[in-house]
Formats: sequence, C-alpha cells, structure tokens
Amino acid sequence: MRWTFRRLVPPFRQGRPRLVSLGRRAADAVADFVLPRTCAFCGAIGRRDDDWPVCAACRRDLPWTGAACPRCARPLGAAAGRDLACGRCLVRPPSFSSAYAPLRYAFPVDAAVKALKFNADLVFVPALAALALPWLRQQVRNWDCLVPVPLHRWRQARRGFNQAMELARWLARHGGLPAVDAAVRRRRTRPQSELPANARRANVRGAFRVVAPAVPARVLLVDDVMTTGETCGELARVLLAAGAAEVGVLCMARAMPALRAAAVQTGTAGSKV
Ligand SMILES: [Zn+2]
Ligand SMILES: [Zn+2]
Repeated sequence: MRWTFRRLVPPFRQGRPRLVSLGRRAADAVADFVLPRTCAFCGAIGRRDDDWPVCAACRRDLPWTGAACPRCARPLGAAAGRDLACGRCLVRPPSFSSAYAPLRYAFPVDAAVKALKFNADLVFVPALAALALPWLRQQVRNWDCLVPVPLHRWRQARRGFNQAMELARWLARHGGLPAVDAAVRRRRTRPQSELPANARRANVRGAFRVVAPAVPARVLLVDDVMTTGETCGELARVLLAAGAAEVGVLCMARAMPALRAAAVQTGTAGSKV
C-alpha cells in the first residue's frame, strides 16, 4: 500500500514554536521552488498542473464521503436518498443549515490532518483544500464569504498558524469567495477529542465572539475536521445572533463520534483544537 511508508509517517510533534514554524514555511517554499512537485499523500512526482498536489491515483483511492446527510455531512449508506437528513438532525437540528465534507476522517486523511496541525506540514493545506474546491465552485453563488473557525490566540501563537484559516485563505484565492476572520475564540477550551460527546456542547458554549463590524448574510464556515459538529454549531449560533441569515459548514473531513470515542480511549485520536 503506497501510503504506509512515504511522507505520512512523520514524527508528529505538538506545540511547534512559532519561529520554527516560520522557518519551516520558508524552507518549504524554497524546496517547492527547487524540487519537483510531488503528491502530498504518496510522494509520486507529479506535473505542475491540476494533478498537484494530489495525484490521480490518490484522488481515486482516498476515503471519499459519498452519500451524506446534507445538514451535518454525516456519511450515510449508499442507499440513502439525496437531500435526506440523518436521524440525529431530524431530532436535534444543528444551528448551521448545511454541511459538506469531501472526505471521511480515515487513513490517510487523518494522518494528513495531524501532519498539518502538529508537524506544520503545510503542503496539506492545498492538498486538502483542493479536494473541496470542486464543491465550493459549484456552491459559490450560495455564499457571501468564508469564515475560518478561530483558534484561541495562545494556541495559534504556539502553533504558528490556524489550519482552518490557512484552508479558508487557500479556498478564497481559488474559489472566488472572500475569507473573513469574523470571530475570535475568547476563551481556551479543552480539545473536543478529550471529551465525551455529551460534554462537547458545554465545552464550547460561549467560546466565540464576533469581531467583524458587519457579518455577511450567508456565511460558510471552514474547518479541517468536524466530529460532533458542536464547535461549528456554537460558532454558527453566535454568527446568526450577530446578524447572519444563514450559516453553512465546509470541513475537509468528517469524523464519526462513535469511532472517535474509541480512538480517544486508545490515545490515537487527532484533537480538534
Ligand atoms: Zn498520490
Ligand atoms: Zn445529519
């Protein structure tokens, strides 16, 4: 299997200091200029065109979401009808009106997200965002702006970047919508992955504050991974209260809460931080 021993087995290091991260960015930029472009997932040398940064073979084999709930992006069985909300959304609809995730949070997407967040492997910004771009281009008329899910400023300073902001900026450049930092995270929250599903809503309650002077009417949130949707739900709630008419979610990957809970117990889950 080509994904097991290429670049997707980095020594994940958390808390990379800001200066190291900036140096890594500069080194990546130089390497990108000097070296041939390679597939972000398997390392295959690609062309400097639409085949980069994800080669055709990886695009074919990645864990695509397939049929999913249009409200929360939860993958549904192949037999599910189009536009049919899942049972959870029927019982307790989220505050966002729709959600889309091109990929499931499974290997090698989970490794890519961890490499991006904890190893500052920023090639996975275009690699993941490019996989969401076709959908965004189809949807572009339905939205006014992209809003990245903010990190608390201390966490962002420690990491050197906010992965959701990097994804939103890339998608803005290529998708034709402005990216707006409309909100900040005003208090530090525990990583959602450390909490059981029923504690996640309380963990993020009141975590966000809108800072944009005027919130556009139709806001599309951008994040890397969505699990229970509580983080995006809380941010959507405050944006709606601040004047947005509709809030949707575009995340690169959708994780399933039940699987994540099992992963937490074994200490293997990525953290939504
Ligand atoms: Zn590849
Ligand atoms: Zn749903």
